[in-house]
Amino acid sequence: DRLISPAEQGEDAAIDRAIRPRRLADYVGQQAMREQLEIFIHAARARGEALDHVLLFGPPGLGKTTLAHIIAAEMGVNLRQTSGPVLERPGDLAALLTNLEPHDLLFVDEIHRLSPVVEEVLYPAMEDYQLDIMIGEGPAARSIKLDLPPFTLVGATTRAGLLTSPLRDRFGIVHRLEFYSTEELTAIVRRAAVILGVPSEPEGAHEIGRRARGTPRIANRLLRRVRDYAQVKSDGCITLAVAQAALALLKVDDQGFDEMDRRLLGAIVDKFGGGPVGLDTLAAALGEERGTIEDVLEPFLIQQGFLMRTPRGRMATPHAYRHLGVVPVRADDL
Ligand code: ADP
Repeated sequence: DRLISPAEQGEDAAIDRAIRPRRLADYVGQQAMREQLEIFIHAARARGEALDHVLLFGPPGLGKTTLAHIIAAEMGVNLRQTSGPVLERPGDLAALLTNLEPHDLLFVDEIHRLSPVVEEVLYPAMEDYQLDIMIGEGPAARSIKLDLPPFTLVGATTRAGLLTSPLRDRFGIVHRLEFYSTEELTAIVRRAAVILGVPSEPEGAHEIGRRARGTPRIANRLLRRVRDYAQVKSDGCITLAVAQAALALLKVDDQGFDEMDRRLLGAIVDKFGGGPVGLDTLAAALGEERGTIEDVLEPFLIQQGFLMRTPRGRMATPHAYRHLGVVPVRADDL
């Protein structure tokens, strides 16, 4: 597994439970979204209504699940969690919806992976709190309608563009999560270090924050690896020198890129003359899935200006050449 993979890995879950922020006030960054949510939550509570449906999108590890839990806590309601691929049949969704208490929050991760038949059931449920499903098959089949308690659906997806427009249109609140700044990630690292009881110096925490690929989940994971290093190689305190040495050992470079990032940029530069190269060709050259490149690898490289997405394919930018230490070959040099 990639060290900096934003996807959740084995030991993440247990430690996450300890360091995951529980209230909006502890949620670092995403300022504009936080301010808006605070108002919407306050207003819904004052009116005694369920919060409008919320769609959160953005690369993995940026805090979508955390935010869903926080919204439930701030609303004072229960959260039920499921995901698109788990809801195979309309009945699976119906069972969940009919078990909700009024104003409860249903969190659907990877909502873009709902099957079309399940999605159909969701439309009237979201719009009118009505369940409209077919039971039985053939001539004996009949449709039943049920009233549902008012509820809030929170959907998470890596890209809003993956959703069908009828589904997207049914969300009243839509937010895109942005990559976090170094300062925000440093704050996240410092907070987690305190909770985990790891001594750290500001420069050490900053070094981890700076190389965490804009992603809180990666920041927390790097913190744990650096903590191990500090414990074995030093006196346990995360200083700048310890963080630098540990991150070098982990092959996380100065930009926070890992080997996979460097392989991606390297392939475009070395094998495809800097691009443009189509996504499928690139995926084949790297032996990676197209979706992983699109949702996990690319967004940060694009945001940092190392990669460009053009109609003809992906292109490496001068930043990428510089980072790899490769001199671009210009046509008129040949
Ligand atoms: P996603 O659902 O987008 O993949 P998660 O909500 O699971 O991401 O976030 C991963 C981890 O990163 C969380 O468990 C939490 O510890 C940390 N985290 C995410 N967002 C924040 C934030 N805004 N402030 C502090 N920690 C965060």
